[in-house]
Order: sequence, then C-alpha cells, then structure tokens
Amino acid sequence: MAVPIPSRQLFIDGEWREPLLKKRIPIINPATQEIIGDIPAATAEDVDIAVEAARRAFSKPDSWASTSGSFRAKFLRAIADKILERKIELAKLEVVDCGKPIDEAISDMVSVAGCFKYYAELAEALDAKQRIPISIPMESFKTHVLKEPIGVVALITPWNYPLLMAAWKVAPALAAGCTAILKPSELASVTCLELAEVCRDVALPPGVLNILTGLGPEAGAPLASHPHVDKIAFTGSTATGIKIMTTAAQTIKPISLELGGKSPILVFEDVDLDNAIEWTLYGCFPNNGQICSATSRLLVHENIAAKFVEKLIQWSKSIKISDPLEEGCRLGAIVSEGQYEKILNFISTAKSEGATILYGGVRPQHLKKGFFIEPTIITDVSTSMQIWREEVFGPVLCVKTFATEEEATQLANDTHYGLGAAVVSNDLERCERLTKVLQAGVVWVNCSQPCFDQAPWGGIKHSGIGRELGEWGLENYLTVKQVTQYTSDKQW
Ligand code: NAD
Repeated sequence: MAVPIPSRQLFIDGEWREPLLKKRIPIINPATQEIIGDIPAATAEDVDIAVEAARRAFSKPDSWASTSGSFRAKFLRAIADKILERKIELAKLEVVDCGKPIDEAISDMVSVAGCFKYYAELAEALDAKQRIPISIPMESFKTHVLKEPIGVVALITPWNYPLLMAAWKVAPALAAGCTAILKPSELASVTCLELAEVCRDVALPPGVLNILTGLGPEAGAPLASHPHVDKIAFTGSTATGIKIMTTAAQTIKPISLELGGKSPILVFEDVDLDNAIEWTLYGCFPNNGQICSATSRLLVHENIAAKFVEKLIQWSKSIKISDPLEEGCRLGAIVSEGQYEKILNFISTAKSEGATILYGGVRPQHLKKGFFIEPTIITDVSTSMQIWREEVFGPVLCVKTFATEEEATQLANDTHYGLGAAVVSNDLERCERLTKVLQAGVVWVNCSQPCFDQAPWGGIKHSGIGRELGEWGLENYLTVKQVTQYTSDKQW
C-alpha cells in the first residue's frame, strides 16, 4: 500500500522556498528499504534567511511577541484541529518515514494535537500572569516583573517521535510569543514539513514558525551558532547535546537539552508477575525500542527472576513484527540502516563480552527486507559491559538480578544517565522510599512510560538540562524583566 509523499521545500517566512544550493536528501522507507521521496537540505545561507524572517516576525511593530496569549491560542487550537483532521494521513507518513507501528503513529498524532491544545490554554492563562507586582521594602519605589518571550528560538529535534518532539517545542515556544526555526532530523522530516502546510492552512503569520530540513552539521550547527538566535531547545543524543552546549557557551545562549537515557526498571518479588511483565515490555519495546526513556535495564529480584524471564520470553514471542503499516503490528522497522547496524553491533559486542542473548538479537526470519530486529532479551550481563552502560536505542532489554533494595538502588543509579526510572512493587512504602533516591527526572511507580502534557519531562546527569511539558515547558521560552520606578516627588 503506497503512501504518497508530498514534495516540499523549506518553509521560510510563510512560504515554500527551494534551498539555495538546491540540495535534497532521499527518504528511505525503513520497512522496505525503498527510496520514497526526498526532502530539501538547508545550508547556512538558508539558515540566515530563516533566522532573519523569524527576527522580523518577533521584532516588527505588530509582532507575534506583542500579541496577547489569547490571540496566539487561536492559532495553536487551529493547528491542533488541522492535525486531528489529517491524523490518519499524517500517521501513515510518519510510519513510512521512520518505521513505527501505525497504531503508535496515530496515537502520536493525537498527542501532537493535545500538546497544541494544552499550550493554547497556557497561552491564554499567560495574559493574566504577564505583569507580576513585587513587594519591596522601600516606599519610594514600585517594582513589577514582566514575563516576556525570550526571542527567536532554534528548535532542533530527533527522529524517534518526529512530529511529537517538534510539538513539545513549537507549541510552548509559540504560546510564549517566541518566533522559531524548527530543524527536524534528516532521518524523519516528512511530518514536520506537513506541519508547515498546516501553518499555511491556518494562516499563521509569516516568519512565526520556519521549518528547515537538512543535515545536522550543515543546517543544525549554523542554526545553533547563529548570532540572532536567542535560545536553543534541543532533543537528541548526548554527543550532539555536548556540541550544542559548547556552541551555546560561545554566544551565551540559554539552552534546554533533552538527551539520551539508560533507564532502569526495578521489579520486586512481591509483584503480580503478569502485570509486571506487561509494564516491562511496554517500558522497552514500543516505537521499536527507540525511546529516550526506555526502561531497558531490568533489575529483577533474584527469587522471581527465573520465572519472570521465562514468561518475558513467552510474551516477547507473541509480539507481532511486520510491515508497520499492517494492522496489529507491534514492532516495526528500525529508522535507518545506520541505526540498524549500530544495534546489531551492540548485540554482537555483548555476546563477545560474555553476555547471553536469551531471545531475539536477529532479523525475524519471515521478513526478508527492511531494518527489522526481534525483541531482544540479554542476560549474564555485568555492569562494566557496553550493553549495560550505553544507550542502544533499539528493542534490547538487559536483565540483572538483585537481592536487596539497597543493591537494586545502587545498580539503578550506577549510570551517567538520569532520564527515567520505574519501580514495580506492591509495597507502596518501598515505592515511596525509592522515588526519593532514584536519580532520574521521571520516576514511574507500578508502570513505565506514561507521559502527560501537564507534567514536567526531562532528565538529570547526562540526560539533559531543563524540563519540557507542563508550565516548565512554557518557562523555557519566557524571560523575566524587572521594572522599578521611583515614585516619590522628593529629590533622591
Ligand atoms: P542526534 O543527536 O543525532 O540528532 C538530533 C538532531 O540534532 C537532529 O535534527 C540532527 O540533525 C541535529 N544535529 C546533529 N548534529 C548537529 C550539530 N552539530 N549541530 C546542531 N544540530 C545537530 O539524535 P537522534 O539520533 O536524532 O535522536 C536519538 C537521540 O535522541 C537518543 O539519544 C535519544 O535518547 C534522544 N532523545 C531524547 C529525548 C528526551 O526527551 N530526553 C526524546 C527523544 C529522543
């Protein structure tokens, strides 16, 4: 079933524009390995034009920044409605571009719309909070604080949830009154280009959102270092995050970074096994395991480990791996050949270091084409192994046992990442204790992965700086200005 890919250009100042160097990047469907279209490749010259368009939209007399939150909310709601209207079409585009199962892609589109609607509400609420009186101890002065949009923002996003990761940034940035340049991943940009079409449909003022597709070093790097960009919001690997932070340091730009993870799930002996298995699988294998917060390190109590792993394998066998457009698909294709090879290399290194590949680790036999890997369960893992320490970003679950809560905590925290952590136990006091000591930005109790627009999302340690979603997501794009007035008629 062919999904037609619209041919698009860069989206700058409200118009489609061919990249100045006329370069394009092929789109490969990871489930079929066929070239299905191409995207424009921006370079530094296109970045200059887009940043200047965003700067004009931010600074001109009737600028986006000067509008009320209620005015901006109307556009955010209109974008949400258009996305819902095109939900199935957009979901199919996401599937052929990045390989995720169709049901997950549809649910992503619903979340994208939900995110725009949520920040529409926050934009409206901002109108009442824009001027905050401050109590000061000197009668002859009056002080207040103005909350203002931070300026022109660069939004750089990854390929695992292409449109959703873009929405997490675009919606709060526009709600705050910022103007933006979105640079999606070169591996999955199709739905972000459709967001441009949606912006045209709802008549978003020119320059408010500009969308530049292209390679990281050629489009992302000049955007991040651009002198007229006031803030960088980045989601991607820790390695690129370090580059972004270094660039930001040269130009004193504020940054928010959502980076990689290697999150643990702690399963205690008092659990209901089936429920714990369900959350363990849900914590690691959706989106083909390409989830930043995947709880990919399973720590299971030694008394239940054998039974737990046996059942885990049984359940893993029932996961339907197929063309991700097929109904009922639960595991689709890995996004690209490079990522596919990287995951297989992780698995073969684990084997050579002495780990046991208990299940999976290979291409499913019934699929001859496409970048598919079976759900993979690895045991006999030591804490020094690469597979235990590094983010695989694929359908790979490593298992270790523990004897005590202290040992589980120590193993869970023994990582330079700190994005998510999950605890599964019927002892709620234990859960409460662990929520305090686990080093992560998000802790799940008796579940793994649920995520809500209203709650802060982000990591500590090498998993990032700052938080997205909720009010924290909006604050990323706001700055405060102190205004102090001398009110006495006496000479100072
Ligand atoms: P990546 O770092 O390779 O690329 C991310 C984005 O940065 C892409 O748009 C890319 O083109 C751009 N980029 C690359 N080099 C650049 C440079 N020098 N300057 C500016 N931009 C540059 O990451 P990826 O492979 O697309 O995404 C996977 C990673 O994202 C994983 O590590 C995953 O954990 C992380 N992630 C984190 C979260 C979170 O919320 N913490 C969410 C999703 C993904």
